[in-house]
Amino acid sequence: MPGPDLHLHSTFSDGLLTPGALVARALALGLPAIAIADHDSVAAVAPALEAARGTGLTVVPAVELSASADSRTVHILGYFIDHLDQTLLARLASLREGRRARAQRIVDALAAAGIEIDPGMVRVDTDEDGAVGRAHIARALIEAGHARDMRDAFDRYLGDDAPFFASKALIPPADAVAWIRDAGGAAVLAHPGLNGIDDLLPSLIDAGIVGIEAFHASHTRDIACRYADLAGRHGLIATGGSDFHGSPREGGAMGCAAAPDGAIDALAEAAAHSRGTR
Ligand code: MN
Ligand code: MN
Ligand code: MN
Repeated sequence: MPGPDLHLHSTFSDGLLTPGALVARALALGLPAIAIADHDSVAAVAPALEAARGTGLTVVPAVELSASADSRTVHILGYFIDHLDQTLLARLASLREGRRARAQRIVDALAAAGIEIDPGMVRVDTDEDGAVGRAHIARALIEAGHARDMRDAFDRYLGDDAPFFASKALIPPADAVAWIRDAGGAAVLAHPGLNGIDDLLPSLIDAGIVGIEAFHASHTRDIACRYADLAGRHGLIATGGSDFHGSPREGGAMGCAAAPDGAIDALAEAAAHSRGTR
């Protein structure tokens, strides 16, 4: 029996499938539940809920926020957020504006170096609600013949140590957690095995995370077990998801990592508690 996949990306960030196509694929795979956790956008939530209506597939409203501590990347997942909350929507819009400005700086620097790409590709389906990432620029570089594949595009142009890297303004992890709580959601530390941030766990717990994404496409079985154990010892919920993007650079196949039984109910309960305390 496949389990819930609580970490997918749609065309509203750097995924290649629309919310409706993600729901269709989840149904074809027989998944009981999914969460589309787009980077800095909740625009996929409403269409996914609509597409899943009457199918028996549970769609958990979600988001993935990018934060940074001591110049290290920290991703915070939010579950059961109120995706219509006006404060949350305004905060996400400001993050996406920073992403657009960063993308423009990279495109300009590439052009100045004689590397032309299709500007139409450096966008997502909907300008307003979509979050632009380096993945979009990488795909444009590949399309224009400047890079072989995603890895090549990041190695030679866009990666953190590559010549055309530009940073975006990032919020501290405690702010990301607070924003999720303010929107009535449950905050979860995403894929800790990817980021090397175990030392930040006490401060994240202080900030109010209620879970750790122990099961993730990038985590070996050993790493997943270690984080599930760590979650248990701290009274946190162990969650899981594939981080499916529809492209090979990030994440795994849909359903390849799943949240344990009871995780969704525990997240709902934690979210209800954060609603009660806001
Ligand atoms: Mn991504
Ligand atoms: Mn992430
Ligand atoms: Mn992700």
